[in-house]
Order: sequence, then C-alpha cells, then structure tokens
Amino acid sequence: TDTGSQKDRVVAEEEWLRKWETGNIWFHKEQGHPLLQKYLDVLLNGRSGLRIFFPLCGKAVEMKWLADMGHSVVGVEVSEKALKEFFAEHSLPFCEEPVPEISGAKKLQTTSGNIALYCCSIYDLSSSIVGKFDGVWDRGALVAVNPCDRQRYVSLMITLMEKNSSYLLVTVSYDPNKHKGPPFYVPESEIKSLFG
Ligand code: SAH
Repeated sequence: TDTGSQKDRVVAEEEWLRKWETGNIWFHKEQGHPLLQKYLDVLLNGRSGLRIFFPLCGKAVEMKWLADMGHSVVGVEVSEKALKEFFAEHSLPFCEEPVPEISGAKKLQTTSGNIALYCCSIYDLSSSIVGKFDGVWDRGALVAVNPCDRQRYVSLMITLMEKNSSYLLVTVSYDPNKHKGPPFYVPESEIKSLFG
C-alpha cells in the first residue's frame, strides 16, 4: 500500500521527551517556516485578533510571530522543556498554573496571556478546556501523530474549530517504501478522508 510499513509504527511519548532532553530536535526551525509566511493571508483571511491553535507545538517560533501580530496563541506540547525553552529564547516572562480539568497538566502563559501553552497530551484537551479556534497551524503535528491515532487526532481538531476557521496543514511528500520517515507519510487521499 502507499503508506507501506509505516502504519503500525509508534513513537511513544517518552521517546519525544527524550528527544527534547538530549537536544535531538532536528524538526525545530530556528527561522520559522517559509510556508506560514507564504500562506499567512489564507490563515488570516483579512481577520484580526484571531485565536490560533498550534497542536504539538514544540517551541515553534511562529507562535511568537502571530502573537506579535496581535493574535492570541494557544499551543499544546508534552515536553515542558520545549515550552520553557520557547519562553526563554524569546525573553517572554510567563507564569504557570495547573489545569484543573487535566491531572498533571500545566498551563504556561505570558503575563499578558496572549500566548498560552498547555503542557499535556493533545488527547487530554477538549473545546470545553481550550475553547474553539479561528485558525490552526499544523506543521509537524498530523505528520508526527502515530498513524493509529490519526482519526482521533483529526476528530478532536475538528471539534476545536470555529465555523469559519482556516487550517494550514504541512505534510511531506515522499515514497514511504523507500524512506521510513520521519515524519510519517500522510498521503493526500488520506487527508481528504480524515477531514472529510
Ligand atoms: N510543531 C512543532 C514541533 C513538531 S515535532 C514545530 O513545527 O517545530 C512534534 C512535537 O509534538 C514534539 O515536540 C513532541 O514532543 C510533541 N508531541 C508528540 N506527541 C504529542 C502529544 N500526544 N501531545 C502533545 N505533544 C506531543
């Protein structure tokens, strides 16, 4: 099949935490992603003051870009180290608080509240906790989700979207029979069936 042998592969949460601990974070783009610049107008669609969601956010610098444009950014990431590095690298003072609905989770946010990052698994979130979003930047997120969790991930993302929200999705096109990733290969046909 066109997803080859990838469909049963799993990257466990501990493995992601270990990558952050050891600095094995090849996926992080110091300069931000050129495709967000290119398609920014599609994401914003002339609107201002949006709520924008960053699933599996890492320490993506695009969160700072959008916050600086006046949008409100919410991210989720299992690695607390990643989130602390984000605030430190942008010299952003932040405070942390527990999330009453999710045991063990923390919310780290800038003092002005315009960037709020949840330290927990995305599967612990729901719209009653984080609300709904006008825009989503999905880079290194759907493609990092284990293939067995894709449907669950997408169903959740759909519940987090406002009626007129825009969703920018970055995937990587390659022959999955020749390369085992990362990231996982998500064929266009599957994107269509997942999102409907
Ligand atoms: N979107 C970011 C990071 C991509 S790498 C960027 O563009 O740089 C994928 C990230 O997802 C890693 O930082 C990993 O720690 C995190 N992650 C993996 N599984 C997760 C889960 N279930 N919930 C939240 N974060 C997760």
